[in-house]
Amino acid sequence: MVSKGDSPAPPGVPDSGQGLVLTRGDITREAVDAIVNAANSSLLGGDGVDGAIHLAAGSGLVQECAGLGGCPAGEARMTKGYRLPARHVIHTVGPVWQGGSAGEDETLASCYRESLRLAEEAGLSSIAFPSISTGIYGFPIERACRIAIREIRAFLATARCVKTVKAVAFSDRDYETYRKAAAEGPL
Ligand code: ADP
Repeated sequence: MVSKGDSPAPPGVPDSGQGLVLTRGDITREAVDAIVNAANSSLLGGDGVDGAIHLAAGSGLVQECAGLGGCPAGEARMTKGYRLPARHVIHTVGPVWQGGSAGEDETLASCYRESLRLAEEAGLSSIAFPSISTGIYGFPIERACRIAIREIRAFLATARCVKTVKAVAFSDRDYETYRKAAAEGPL
């Protein structure tokens, strides 16, 4: 699904509004129904986007996370958003890159599907994702963007509640990578 804007975007490249939306920025500032956290399996906080989310949310978040008993790779858990502008945080655990033959693609796809499934079950309409696994976990960004876009598009095609899915790139370079992957069309 591609959103509609004032000026026509190249095929497959969304601009604003509903559907898949590509943006560049800090996910902790996104005022959506849920932001997704690229967590580790303890769910107790870490570096990168995980640390930024916990810092912005305040200590209520880690207290709630401590009661969840961790989360395996490829699955997701939802908490409240505490001091974040987002109402909820969906914590998902991406795969650690091991060269590509250890099921990393499928585990990453599952992170997107499971996060979106939780949002849909909770009746949420807007959700923002960081680029899961492409920081400390070392997943190649081009490959990860293709998987993210494929899974988000497939989900939006049948979702009833989830209307807007933002892919938030943290750098201009990552944004460009998303844009290219989106322009490749349905993957
Ligand atoms: P992982 O351990 O899953 O690789 P990281 O947090 O190390 O998670 O990185 C995941 C992605 O999140 C990277 O592309 C990184 O640049 C990005 N990132 C880091 N901080 C933020 C932030 N505040 N907002 C959005 N994306 C972020």
